[in-house]
Amino acid sequence: MAALEASRRVGTAVVSKLYPTRSHTGAAQGGIAAALANLEDDSWENHAYDTIKGGDFLVDQTAAEILCREAVECIYDLEHMGLPFDRTVDGRISQRRFGGHTKPNPKYDPSAPAGTEAAKPRIPVMRSCHSADRTGHMILQTLYQQCIKQGVAFFDEFHMLDLILEDGECRGIVAIEIATGALHVFHAKSVLLATGGFGRMFKVSSNAYALTGDGPAIAYRHGMPLEDMEFYQFHPTGIYRLGILLSEACRGDGGIMFNGQGERFMERYAPNLKDLASRDVCSRSIYQEVRAGRGIGGKDYVHLDIRAETMNKYKSSPLHPDQNVDSHWVEKRLPDIIEFARTYLGVDPIKEPMPIQPTAHYAMGGLPTDLDGRVHRNARDVVPGLYSAGESACLSVHGANRLGTNSLVDLVVYGRRSGRAMADYASRVEFHSIPAHPEAAAKAAIDDLLGRPRTEPWARLRDEMQATMMDHCGVFRTEETLVKARDDIANLKQRYQRLGVQDKGSVFNTGLLEILELGNLLDLAEATVASALARRESRGAHSREDFPNRDDNAFFKHSLAFANGQEGARVEYKDVDVIHVEKDGERVPKYPLEVRKY
Ligand SMILES: Cc1cc2nc3c(=O)[nH]c(=O)nc-3n(C[C@H](O)[C@H](O)[C@H](O)COP(=O)(O)OP(=O)(O)OC[C@H]3O[C@@H](n4cnc5c(N)ncnc54)[C@H](O)[C@@H]3O)c2cc1C
Repeated sequence: MAALEASRRVGTAVVSKLYPTRSHTGAAQGGIAAALANLEDDSWENHAYDTIKGGDFLVDQTAAEILCREAVECIYDLEHMGLPFDRTVDGRISQRRFGGHTKPNPKYDPSAPAGTEAAKPRIPVMRSCHSADRTGHMILQTLYQQCIKQGVAFFDEFHMLDLILEDGECRGIVAIEIATGALHVFHAKSVLLATGGFGRMFKVSSNAYALTGDGPAIAYRHGMPLEDMEFYQFHPTGIYRLGILLSEACRGDGGIMFNGQGERFMERYAPNLKDLASRDVCSRSIYQEVRAGRGIGGKDYVHLDIRAETMNKYKSSPLHPDQNVDSHWVEKRLPDIIEFARTYLGVDPIKEPMPIQPTAHYAMGGLPTDLDGRVHRNARDVVPGLYSAGESACLSVHGANRLGTNSLVDLVVYGRRSGRAMADYASRVEFHSIPAHPEAAAKAAIDDLLGRPRTEPWARLRDEMQATMMDHCGVFRTEETLVKARDDIANLKQRYQRLGVQDKGSVFNTGLLEILELGNLLDLAEATVASALARRESRGAHSREDFPNRDDNAFFKHSLAFANGQEGARVEYKDVDVIHVEKDGERVPKYPLEVRKY
């Protein structure tokens, strides 16, 4: 999206280590949020409130309001570019429910008995626009086609190794051409990092193999901070042991989670929204059930049930109370999910429930950016010429926990804004000079790796990192587990310095690239653990068992982790952006802090 916008004004190139349409966005299933109000009443204000509450109030509020307001226009833009959204019977863009997306309950009565419909202050709303369960694929293909049409130059399978920074400005990147091993220098007036997430840090993850956080890691090594790294989202419904995602659309369309005793356990943890509570709440609930011995057969997983008969029994599908659903309806709404379960689990979800466990899914943290995608070097100053958007950036519109379908909308809204901003900057400035050999550092690092004898296999280090992050810096954390994770990561970083590559060639040397990616993940793991250790409260996805409550006095602020050599990472803080409004002659917060309940 950023490239498409920028290319309307300036010459634009996309450098991607994958063939672009293989980017992880293509795996996004459930949908993209925008308050179109096509099926029921809704407004961008509802969406903004849900986003801020979903993020446990750590969200920067101006950024969230822009996200939700511009979302609507962006969806119609995508539609006009040819994106084949599913339709309602009268031809409008179809929408489905997703966790944490609500609207005020028109029948709300504070005096109504608990558990009745009227006792719920807010009720689920259909806000997620979708193309079956292949929404991200459609977005990626549509935007790629538009970029080709617009003449964007694509450098496919070029792996960025370094940023070119001179006089505090970003002036380009260095990349290796994977097919040949040749190093290339891209001299640019502005650079936008959109390298995606880094879920590969954890053992069980929904993320593709390529999601190793290269952009944020390279910037971190150049002294730039990483914001809110302690907030990493675990999606409640990954396929047991494999982590492959079963979209939240399953629950949006009426699917229900059950424990080993056949209980709909979310009633205990989120009496109002139940299975449609936010992801952090659902993932913790699954862990709590498992710990209490109520997993399936006493094991460490629960069931997700999308059978039509279950939806009809619990009246959980969006068609209720008017209509029952049948398996044909379920197959049409969730074709890929059903196929995944059949292929990877050998389970037919039309006939039986699916075994699931939480899976590492989404990085709320990343490079600190402003409303134009400009990367900040500290709480105040930007790095001229450097931008970021998408999962690698932290705006922060997702705060301490992102709502489902809010990532895709973040990509298009802020991709567009930052694409415009980087083009504007590029058209205003001259080409500034770059050093004679900006590739020297990257070349030296590669030569060093190729020159070393091969010691232990790099994959062993990766497995150890993933295990320690999963076990000690996962859904639940304590001082003790985090200290363990910190020491493990420091130890792995030492061993990393001695790794050698088996393949000494230059053609498709994937071993070399995987070692470099592992180095990136280790740096990001270091920043994640340091930020998690420093935050002595529980908020959103960061759940400290030794500090179980949210502490707004001490921690209503964003963390910034800086690389600090042997010392690990140094953590500083910056304020949350809060909107104030006039009320009875007083300036009061528009979104007052409240205890988050679903
Ligand atoms: C299985 C799954 C389902 C999801 N479903 C949804 C959903 O329904 N709704 C929703 O809102 N969100 C969903 N998400 C989250 C959302 O899809 C991602 O957050 C989002 O797609 C990230 O997009 P991105 O453009 O930031 O990065 P990506 O789409 O991951 O793209 C990253 C790009 O950076 C390139 N790159 C990375 N490193 C380098 C390097 N060193 N050199 C050169 N290029 C590099 C890659 O080649 C790639 O092209 C889902 C995520 C997953 C994993």
